[in-house]
Amino acid sequence: MFIPQVVLLVYEKDAVSLLRAQLKAADGTVLYDSINSSQWTAMKTQIKNHVAGFYTDAGANVRIVDSSAGLASPYTVVRLVKGSGFPVNTWGYGGGCDFHDLRPNAEPADDMAKVLVVGHRWIINDAYQNSVPLPTLPLGPDNLSWSIAITVCHELAHSLGLVYNNTILGGTPYPLCHNPGTPPTGWQWHLMTGGSPTKEHLDPASNWCWKEVNTDYLKFILPKE
Ligand SMILES: [Zn+2]
Repeated sequence: MFIPQVVLLVYEKDAVSLLRAQLKAADGTVLYDSINSSQWTAMKTQIKNHVAGFYTDAGANVRIVDSSAGLASPYTVVRLVKGSGFPVNTWGYGGGCDFHDLRPNAEPADDMAKVLVVGHRWIINDAYQNSVPLPTLPLGPDNLSWSIAITVCHELAHSLGLVYNNTILGGTPYPLCHNPGTPPTGWQWHLMTGGSPTKEHLDPASNWCWKEVNTDYLKFILPKE
C-alpha cells in the first residue's frame, strides 16, 4: 500500500475574480463571457477531474483536491494566481524543476506551481489580434477549464521533477525543461512540451499525452502498487 501524493489546488480570490470577468478584444469582440458562480463551481469540478485523469493515465499515485478542509500534510500546492509579475505570454509557472522538487505545504508561495490568469487572458487576446487559430468564439467555461487543467498538470509535473535532468528524461536544459519532439500518431501534444498552440491549449477535444519516459518516472516516484 502506497501513500498518494496529495495535490491541493488553491484558487486565490483576486485571480478567480479576474478569470471570471468578461474578456473583450479592442474591437469589441467578446473573447469569453463573464462566468457566473454556478459555472465556476462546475469549472472547478471539471479542472479537478481533468487533472486527475491525466495523472491516472500516467499511472501515478496522485490525488487532486481543491479544499484544504481536513487535509493532512504533507501535500503539495498548485495555485491559481493573477500573476501580474510574470511574463504576460505565459500560461503558468512551474517553480523548481529538479528531481522530485516537492515543497510540501511550502510557503512563501513564490516558488510553487502556478496558473497565471493574466497570462491566460493575454494569450487569448493576443491570438485573436494576430489571427492565430482559436476554438469557436466566444470561448466558454469548458475551454477555460481545459486550459487551466493542462496548465495545472504541466506545472505540477515540473514540481514533481519533470524534465530538468535532460539526459535521463529527454528534456531540454534549464530554464526550459521541456520535451522536444512530436507525440506518437493520434496524439497532438506531450504534456511536458513547451509552447503548444493556443487552440489546442483551449480545446477539450485536443489530444494530450505523456511522453513514456515521463510516465515511467512518475510511476517510479509515485507507485500505486
Ligand atoms: Zn513548462
